[in-house]
Amino acid sequence: MDTARRRLRQETEQLRAERNTLTKQVEQLLRQGDRPAGEAAKEQVRELNNRLGSLEAELAVAERHWGELMLLAPNPVSADTPVGRDDGDNRELRQAGEPPEFGFALRDHVELGELHDILDLPRGVKAGGPRSYVLKGAGLYLHLAVQRLAMDVLAERGFTLMDVPVIVRPETLTRTGFFPGGKDQTYELNDEDRWLAGTSEVSLVSLYSDEIVDVESPMRLAGVSACFRREVGSAGRDVRGLYRVHQFAKVEQVVLCRGDAETSDRMLQEILGNAEHILQLLELPYRVMAVCTGDMALKTHKQYDIETWMPSRQAYGETHSASNLLDFQARRSGIRYRDEGGRLQFCHTLNNTAAATPRLLIPLLENHQQEDGSIYIPPALRKYMNGMERLTLR
Ligand code: AMP
Repeated sequence: MDTARRRLRQETEQLRAERNTLTKQVEQLLRQGDRPAGEAAKEQVRELNNRLGSLEAELAVAERHWGELMLLAPNPVSADTPVGRDDGDNRELRQAGEPPEFGFALRDHVELGELHDILDLPRGVKAGGPRSYVLKGAGLYLHLAVQRLAMDVLAERGFTLMDVPVIVRPETLTRTGFFPGGKDQTYELNDEDRWLAGTSEVSLVSLYSDEIVDVESPMRLAGVSACFRREVGSAGRDVRGLYRVHQFAKVEQVVLCRGDAETSDRMLQEILGNAEHILQLLELPYRVMAVCTGDMALKTHKQYDIETWMPSRQAYGETHSASNLLDFQARRSGIRYRDEGGRLQFCHTLNNTAAATPRLLIPLLENHQQEDGSIYIPPALRKYMNGMERLTLR
């Protein structure tokens, strides 16, 4: 395709040059009063224009196909990315905190939610269909509290908090690498040519498209938004409770930095550390995974997932996902900066979850449950919970 496109380009350019020379000759001949020769040359120009017209149409088709194929070209993965088929091949790098031992029959988050009257799944489904939920009273406070905690941690660490559009243009999704691959996972607004973003990363990166930005110190952005996912292909998976829903809330970290691998790798460690800090404040056991090639999106160069301990699953479940995309998004989005020599370079972009809820409420409720059914609230959350130290049964 590339060879064909280059050939067509060359031929078009050649023909244009010929036509221009000939057009000049026509003018000259007419100026000299040689009408018959002028008219003959004019006829040749007309013929060239016809050929050029069809060649240009052919080139436009080739350029479009080439562009579509280029959108499918993946980012090369980092040398230390494990090679694997799916999440089963992800490599555990470290664990933090100990999964708690319960000396009593433990309840899962759905039972705890019903017991405390903070979660109503049946009525959520009644209003919103499958994979919907209702958080009530202290449940809603907890949902907001983990977001507020994440916001405050990030603000203190130099992030600018933002409320950004989640109704976005299709090109915004293409230029950030979500389209064409993720089209089937995204809700389309009928007749609007607008889509519902699955993450605020889409808007946060796109705010700077076609701009020359100052990344002498990395741009640290945090989006707070609703996220929408169709979850096509997840039928039958994680159907109980709050793990996999169509609409959730997320505080998201996005970084734009200089386009060198050393800087962006350092920023990847920083945004990973921010998420770990939040989990430590929530007193939750977790592990960090190096994500393998088969479990990574097309746009990703290197990815870590954080999985938090979920007692009802007797397993760690993914709660955070940190990615370095190198210049993949910046190239498509036209986000550049001037280097020391004044040359324009593409930025590197990165992102990581800070808190995604209600999924995070699963480990929070389950790990912190007590034998009497009450739920311990970690000190870091209490100021967002009107000082509440535990959820007790009335
Ligand atoms: P992602 O943007 O897909 O890497 O997801 C980031 C985080 O959002 C995940 O680690 C989850 O905590 C959360 N998340 C993603 N999809 C869902 C979903 N369908 N329901 C609930 N939480 C989700």
